[in-house]
Amino acid sequence: MVPWEDAKVHVLTHALHYGTGYFEGIRCYALADGRSAVFRLDEHLRRFFDSGKIIGFPLPYSFEEVKQATLDVIRINRLKACYIRPLAFVGLGEMGLYAPDNPINVLIAAWSWGAYLGDDGIKNGIRAKISSYTRHHVNVMMTKSKVSGNYVNSVLAKSEVKKAGYDEAIMLDAEGYVAEASGENIFVVRDRIVKTTPFTSILPGITRDSILTIARNKGYVVEEERFTRDELYMADEIFFTGTAAEVTPVREVDNRQVGRGCPGAVTLDLQQTFFDIIKGKDEKYSTWLTYL
Ligand code: PMP
Repeated sequence: MVPWEDAKVHVLTHALHYGTGYFEGIRCYALADGRSAVFRLDEHLRRFFDSGKIIGFPLPYSFEEVKQATLDVIRINRLKACYIRPLAFVGLGEMGLYAPDNPINVLIAAWSWGAYLGDDGIKNGIRAKISSYTRHHVNVMMTKSKVSGNYVNSVLAKSEVKKAGYDEAIMLDAEGYVAEASGENIFVVRDRIVKTTPFTSILPGITRDSILTIARNKGYVVEEERFTRDELYMADEIFFTGTAAEVTPVREVDNRQVGRGCPGAVTLDLQQTFFDIIKGKDEKYSTWLTYL
C-alpha cells in the first residue's frame, strides 16, 4: 500500500510515451444487507490477464495474487462501494519501441465513483451522437484488450461529441456497422427483440455479458448480430452497458428521439434486474458477487 501522494512514476516510463499499458475497470457495491461485494471479479481479472496476452506483456503475478491484492485495496481503504482500477504498464528501461526487458509494473487503485453518465442519465436516458471517428479496425488495434493506447480513439470520439453538446459517442466500425460507445457496449430493442453487436471490433464487455444472460433467462429473444446506423434510428429502445455506466438508457441519437424519448419497458426491466443483482437482492446470480 502506497499513500496517494507517493504513487508516482518516472517521466521516462515506456507506457507514458507509447501507450503500452492495459487496465481493468471493476465495481464494488454496497449490498442491501450491509455487506459489500465485487461484481464479476473473476471475469474482470480474466480479461486483465487476456489483455496482457494480447499486447504481449503478460502479468508477472498469479491470478490469485491479483485477486487478493484487489480485495486488500478495497478493505484497507475501508470502501463500502467503489470503482477499482488495476493497471499494468511497461516501465522504465529501454526507450525504443522494442523493450522486452523493461519491467511490467502493476498497480491497483480504488475510489468512490458515482454514475459515469450521471444519475439523471441512468433514470431518464442520455443523448448520444455518432462520432466522425471510426472504431479501431481489428487489425489496427486489437479491441478485445483494454490496452491504454487503444483509448485515444475513445478520447477523441468522446471529446468530439461532448464539445458538440451530447453525452456520449457511438462509434461505427471500419466497415460502417455500429460498434460500441466510447466506453460502453450498445444494445438496440425492436419489437422486444434485444440485439447487440458481436465480438468483431468491440470490447467483450462484462456488463454486456451480464445483460445477455439476464435477458435470455427472462425469455427475451436475444441476437448478437451486426447492425447498421439506420437500425438505431428505427429502434424502439437503445441502451449502453458498462462497468462505469452500468445500464444507461439512450433517449436520443443524432438529435432523433429514440422510441418515446424516455427509457423503454425492456430497458427498464433489464436495468432493474441488474440493479437488484448488484445489490445482492437476487439469489440466482449470487455467484457473480465476491463478498468482502
Ligand atoms: N467498450 C469499451 C470500449 C469500454 O471501455 C468498456 C468499459 N470497460 C465497455 C465496452 C464495457 O465493458 P464492461 O461492461 O466490461 O465494463
